[in-house]
Amino acid sequence: MIITISNQASSEERAQLMSLLCRITASRMPLATTHISGREVIALDNTVLDVQSQQLLLQQPAVTELLPMKTSYQLVSRSFQPADTRILIGTGHACTPITVGGPSASPVIIAGPCAVESREQLLTTAHAVKAAGANILRGGAFKPRTSPYQFQGLGVEGLKLLAEAREQTGLPIVTEVMETEMVDTVAEYSDILQIGARNVQNYALLRAAGKHSAKRPVLLKRGLASTVEEWLLAAEYIVAAGNPNVILCERGIRSYDPQTRNVLDLTCVPLIQELTHLPILVDPSHATGRRELVPAMSRASIAAGAQGLIIETHCDPSTALCDGRQSITPEQLARIVAETRALSHLMQGSELVQVA
Ligand code: PEP
Ligand code: MN
Repeated sequence: MIITISNQASSEERAQLMSLLCRITASRMPLATTHISGREVIALDNTVLDVQSQQLLLQQPAVTELLPMKTSYQLVSRSFQPADTRILIGTGHACTPITVGGPSASPVIIAGPCAVESREQLLTTAHAVKAAGANILRGGAFKPRTSPYQFQGLGVEGLKLLAEAREQTGLPIVTEVMETEMVDTVAEYSDILQIGARNVQNYALLRAAGKHSAKRPVLLKRGLASTVEEWLLAAEYIVAAGNPNVILCERGIRSYDPQTRNVLDLTCVPLIQELTHLPILVDPSHATGRRELVPAMSRASIAAGAQGLIIETHCDPSTALCDGRQSITPEQLARIVAETRALSHLMQGSELVQVA
């Protein structure tokens, strides 16, 4: 059930609503409001609201509407907000802002190394991906590695290098946050917080990414074995905690064939667009694990309707400390950018032809 709060409600009326909600839920769930498509809302599980509670809520001067929802995810549902969410990236720092999402936007290309390894590696790659046409720079400062003996990232030093790369190139940056306690620090340096596949069920981290004061947009990867519903509920955690700016990213799901690192589930792209208003990007690098498959899967992702791509790109993939096998060169990226932009224009043109 989604409760819409009147924008004319006084602070006393709001406090009265909150204390009623605390009573109804027996204070068993955190209550936060979210501003989404011009409305201030709170969502509650339908099961906690009996008819009597609903009547009580409707009598509250602070409540304008109760909207029953049929799905477990609510605020991210397409039935709550029919229009695509469009998210403006890069407003918190001096850089070139870019919009993610919406039907007519050209696909957003995020590129950069898996990990920030050194100043020279990052700055060389950042300038090269910008020249290749990327809109946003990626790079992990905190790396979730399968083995504790592998390179774990440069930490805060890596964040500082990313900020320097943004200053030099004007590209907004996206970087992963792995710990709740680091959300504010990562948000201070970055333009998008990435929550990785391994943390999609870290509910404390999801909530912290929803609540943090800078309200940076969040790039939420699909988990290695997440169902679409579990993934949307992970997004719901962030939105319900107060941050409506979530970008989903399909990065492959685990299967049985070791030929590829994961299986790229492109079916989920149009499916996600039917179920939610949030933007969806595809990561063909982690999905395939093999650089020679990245161009074809990039084209296929755009053809499936993805609103952008995140592609691991390294100035010298053979020396990469992390995920070199799937990293492409800036020259290969330039070709993918040209192909995917042409494909997207073609698709927008064909839509116009069909409408006519
Ligand atoms: C990454 O983007 O470098 C990464 C670790 O991705 P994922 O969480 O999808 O594995
Ligand atoms: Mn990687």
